[in-house]
Amino acid sequence: VFPLAGKRIWIAGHRGMVGGALVRRLESEACEVLTTERSLDLRDQASVRAWLAEETPDAIVLAAAKVGGILANDSYPADFLYDNLMIAANVIEAAHRADVDRLLFLGSSCIYPRLAAQPMREDALLTGLLEPTNEWYAIAKIAGIKLAQAYRKQHGRSYISAMPTNLYGPGDNYHPKNSHVLPALIRKTHEAKTGDADAIEVWGTGTPRREFLHVDDLADALVHLLVHYDEAEHVNVGAGEDIAIGDLARLVAEVVGFTGGIEFDASKPDGTPRKLLDCSKLSDLGWQPSIGLRDGIAAAYADFLDGETRGLG
Ligand code: GDP
Repeated sequence: VFPLAGKRIWIAGHRGMVGGALVRRLESEACEVLTTERSLDLRDQASVRAWLAEETPDAIVLAAAKVGGILANDSYPADFLYDNLMIAANVIEAAHRADVDRLLFLGSSCIYPRLAAQPMREDALLTGLLEPTNEWYAIAKIAGIKLAQAYRKQHGRSYISAMPTNLYGPGDNYHPKNSHVLPALIRKTHEAKTGDADAIEVWGTGTPRREFLHVDDLADALVHLLVHYDEAEHVNVGAGEDIAIGDLARLVAEVVGFTGGIEFDASKPDGTPRKLLDCSKLSDLGWQPSIGLRDGIAAAYADFLDGETRGLG
């Protein structure tokens, strides 16, 4: 057990959706949260070493990453591979150098083989070929898991990894092309409603299935793991059920109040046919999600509208 009281915890990536949720979640713990200035580039080894040597936190949650949806991954492979490799390598190595003994690395469910048996267990890692549309990101995240394991094996460090499923929630990226499916659908459906459009356009066939976890649930699970988990194998963090993209589009339409149609653009990629995590390990560790998909989408839509009003949408 790693009690948080009195600890100084660096949330790397606190401006992102996951890091932001962690900062909010840790407000209710008696720990101190450290964050960096925007000018600290985690891809730069010297800067990361200098920051960690100076601050020497008790723990690090590595929630910084270059992220994006299926098209962004496919369009910027160099950024997705290089940025994420460098962030993982720099932070984990510098943490060890600065004698930081506790670190939680964050990956993603796309690390698993494209055709892994569903739901995907932790031991499916490296048993088959990756999905080509996000292999760049996946390879960097697999390297991060292995780095955490390597520093544990060689140096006895208490470094652990968590693999979240597709995430959504406050602070998400609602970019029309580069975002993930759920924020993209929220934007498109809202714009179709306010613009009196007849239909929204959904990429692919609508048949791929995805699992969605609210980022506040993720933050709670990560705190649980940081306190209670100390083994080499990564831990899946999911919502327990998946939904077809076509049904997701209908659910978003209901929440947003859009009564028009849904059209599928089969010229866009489907990606992995199904991505559902087996979360029995996390459940055995005593954690369960609590935010249902419909409620979560309603909260995310409110957040989107809030961003629009502030001119950030
Ligand atoms: P993935 O989970 O890595 O495939 O990433 P995404 O969240 O980007 O996409 C999930 C699925 O939603 C894929 O089958 C996409 O083709 C589909 N999809 C449908 N409409 C959209 C959209 O507007 N944006 C995105 N990013 N995906 C969409």
